[in-house]
Amino acid sequence: MGKFDFIDAEISRLKEAGLYNNVRTIESPQGAWIRVDGKKVLNMCSNNYLGLAGEKRLVDKAKEYMDLYGAGPGAVRSIAGTMSFHYELEKKLSEFKETEDTLSLQSGFVTNQAVIPSIVSSADDAVFTDELNHASIIDGVRLSKAKRYIYKHNDPASLEEKLKEASDAKNKLIITDGVFSMDGDIAPLKEICDLADRYGAMTMVDDAHGEGVLGPHGRGIAHHLGVHGRIDFEVGTLSKAFGIVGGFVSGKKSVIDFLRQKARPFLFSSAVTPADAGASLAAVEILQESDERVKKLWSNTGLFKEGIKKLGFDTGISVTPITPVMLGEASLAQAFSRRLFEKGIFAMSIGFPTVPRGKARIRVMISASHSEEDLRWALGIFEETGKELGVI
Ligand SMILES: *Cc1c(COP(=O)(O)O)cnc(C)c1O
Repeated sequence: MGKFDFIDAEISRLKEAGLYNNVRTIESPQGAWIRVDGKKVLNMCSNNYLGLAGEKRLVDKAKEYMDLYGAGPGAVRSIAGTMSFHYELEKKLSEFKETEDTLSLQSGFVTNQAVIPSIVSSADDAVFTDELNHASIIDGVRLSKAKRYIYKHNDPASLEEKLKEASDAKNKLIITDGVFSMDGDIAPLKEICDLADRYGAMTMVDDAHGEGVLGPHGRGIAHHLGVHGRIDFEVGTLSKAFGIVGGFVSGKKSVIDFLRQKARPFLFSSAVTPADAGASLAAVEILQESDERVKKLWSNTGLFKEGIKKLGFDTGISVTPITPVMLGEASLAQAFSRRLFEKGIFAMSIGFPTVPRGKARIRVMISASHSEEDLRWALGIFEETGKELGVI
């Protein structure tokens, strides 16, 4: 018996079950066409919704900020590492989100760890969380001592039941993803805000897949659903549509100020670099100047979704550019993805535990960087592969 036997056993089990995650290597900048494991392929699985990740204006501004401020921040922000570009980024993000203030953090994942345990901290508090919320929300909730209520996916009646159950709780926080990243459906925010008002709860939305995608100029789901100003904590990421890395939370001045005092990832971990901040500023500026990329993203989405449905594929319940192509068994989804790759399309299969058993799929991510010609060509390959594997 060796002390690592459990590790070998688990790896073997994952491989046998077809659940072992083989990560491919991308050898070029992000864009519509990329080089993966030595092969030029059409990228249909990035979160680079607007094509900003490889955009020259972002790269130039990143270089400019490195020239101005150096490579790194040198200390944890709260101690001696807050630099002027951190405040500049927060000001820019507040402008973009039309909120009073913003706290920038290292990533979207970390932002949930920062906000949730700071706001609902004691056993007298209650947190209400959608059963399909992102892993980073689940982990953020685990860090809190608050009583946990998991409500049925996108179901206000289930949420209300839980709110009634927790009527004695002191501070209440309702948390939902804005866009659910596996199915591409969106949260019923108006109903959630109405319930929050009725039961005196705070609201928090993680809009990782909504920013840059939904609402005018990609301002996010709160604008899209007309509840701007009713969401107390708007969590965002700079790693998806914005194309860089970083996270943030926007809201009222007092609330963000409170997080600056309490949020442990702000107090005990260093912040984004000058290059990240510079590129992020350029990304927001591009979105403020023009919604051309957002419009292109949606016209591309329409083209591909209509086409793939016409071919007879099931795309589930998505109302966003996230386009799941439902295949059922994980082994079929994996075989489908492999065939697509051989034919020149990079689109990964997603299976259990990321999605429920029997609901494996290829998750196609549409981007503004795709041309119509790219998408028509891809539809042809999906048709060919679907027939070959007996799916359509
Ligand atoms: C991707 C995602 C995150 C993580 O964002 P990062 O900035 O990559 O850490 C958090 N929440 C949701 C809902 C996401 O989809």
